[in-house]
Amino acid sequence: MTVLAEVIIHRNAGGNVRHALRNMIILDEVLGLKEIALVHHTDCSTLRFRDDDIRRSLKLKTDSQYWPVIDSMHMGAITDVEHSVRDDLEWLEATPFVRKDLTERARGLVFDVKTGLVNPVTQ
Ligand SMILES: [Zn+2]
Repeated sequence: MTVLAEVIIHRNAGGNVRHALRNMIILDEVLGLKEIALVHHTDCSTLRFRDDDIRRSLKLKTDSQYWPVIDSMHMGAITDVEHSVRDDLEWLEATPFVRKDLTERARGLVFDVKTGLVNPVTQ
């Protein structure tokens, strides 16, 4: 038996679902998504900064007229990988911009960079 699987991988810093929204909408419109799996990983760099630190740094490089925009930016810093997957699953379920049949079946996973194992995250 041959099993064919088509997988579209969208990568961004932290595997952040909010930052992937535009791509999910377009891919679903153009290709028709069948399933969504959110995969974050251990030892992620998004564990190593705070959103305010990035905002402060960006403000040092820009004119103050842009600071309100910077203040509204979600940078995606996290403090716990499993918690961030759960948070992203909750956010995905709540967004009105992705089909409910996709969001209700979405799965959350954590890739352990030390063991190579992918572990499901239960809500
Ligand atoms: Zn990462």
